[in-house]
Amino acid sequence: MRRGPRKRTTRQLEQVFKALHGDHSHPIAHEIYRRVHKKLPRISLATVYRNLHTLVEEGKIRTLLLGDQVARYDPETREHDHFICERCGRVSDVFLKRARRIDLSPLARDGYVVTTHNLTVYGMCRVCAGRRRTSKPSRAARKPSVRTMAVIRG
Ligand SMILES: [Zn+2]
Ligand SMILES: [Zn+2]
Repeated sequence: MRRGPRKRTTRQLEQVFKALHGDHSHPIAHEIYRRVHKKLPRISLATVYRNLHTLVEEGKIRTLLLGDQVARYDPETREHDHFICERCGRVSDVFLKRARRIDLSPLARDGYVVTTHNLTVYGMCRVCAGRRRTSKPSRAARKPSVRTMAVIRG
């Protein structure tokens, strides 16, 4: 018996969502495709992209661009920031208190439509920092840098 196109679409969307749910590593589309492909061998990368886009539109997941020009996907939809390890590249969710709000009104005046705004903190993750402590003292530690990113649509 053949499954109707609607049913198949729902199933694909479910599998794409499941492949990302509970994953805090912020994977790229190819990685999600690899996972979904195990369950649905006939699914294409384009379909995975389309389903990711639908999930973003529905507010179930978020897209993340971290300066590497590759979209990452994030099932964490609460407002949060990211820590990027400059050693291993790991992207971690961080929930920082927002004491000061950045004034984004100049963007609106310039015609930008701001959807979200988050902070990206760069440095070394706990694993890499721990590894460094146990090895011989290295050159002067790099200062952690903080960069603010605004995601702009429009
Ligand atoms: Zn690391
Ligand atoms: Zn995140």
